[in-house]
Amino acid sequence: MSRMPVLFVGHGSPMLALDDGPAHRFLTGLAGHLPRPKAILVVSAHWEAATPRVSSVEKPRTIHDFGGFPRALYEMQYPAPGAPDLAARVAELVPGATIDPARGLDHGAWVPLKLAYPAADVPVTQLSVQTPDGPKGALALGQALRPLRDEGVLIIGSGSLTHNLYEFRSPVQEQPVKPWVKAFADWVHEKIAAGDIESLLDYRAKAPYGPQNHPTEEHFLPLFTVLGAAEPGEAVLLQHQSYTYGILAMDAYGTALAA
Ligand code: ZN
Repeated sequence: MSRMPVLFVGHGSPMLALDDGPAHRFLTGLAGHLPRPKAILVVSAHWEAATPRVSSVEKPRTIHDFGGFPRALYEMQYPAPGAPDLAARVAELVPGATIDPARGLDHGAWVPLKLAYPAADVPVTQLSVQTPDGPKGALALGQALRPLRDEGVLIIGSGSLTHNLYEFRSPVQEQPVKPWVKAFADWVHEKIAAGDIESLLDYRAKAPYGPQNHPTEEHFLPLFTVLGAAEPGEAVLLQHQSYTYGILAMDAYGTALAA
């Protein structure tokens, strides 16, 4: 079995599931560029836990963990089968990880998957983000998950390259990008292209407007898990680049895709 790519995506506003736009189209076309996974493991910013938790649910429910959106969004379901075997394997690989027998799929998982795998026929489970462990902990988590790539598992880190929702001003997708958002996204791109993980780990001090783009870290941490799941020396490439609402970089990064 060939090694699966590993991918970080921005899940944006939940409206990404409904509204057309560059990131929506990127995700819609994604499966065509990937080998068919045996199962998918999503590390979503919307599941924070003190220690790693992985869901063993056989039929995960679709969690509508957001407020104030159109009814159509609440009616959306993502009835993919769960992946209890994968959960057991994750619990084996990740130090301190425990099984969660109840957790469904939050919008960080199901919104991108609804676009990429609309048939909902690939088993999927989620692994939590440990925000207090910071970028180093998230990187180590990815390193622990590496063997899964040789077992047919697609690992997706789902967060946002920039994520300061206090700066959200209007629900118009296409707006001029805030300079402090672009400066940060450009810096991240430069460091990923250079393989400079050390600088990335210290982004709050080193990047332009680091804390301004991530008042809290949970949406940025899945990127580190993806970087950790890449093999040493394996290139992590920009797979998609766009902005929504002037504040959310929807950039996706991943190891080389299949085609
Ligand atoms: Zn989010």
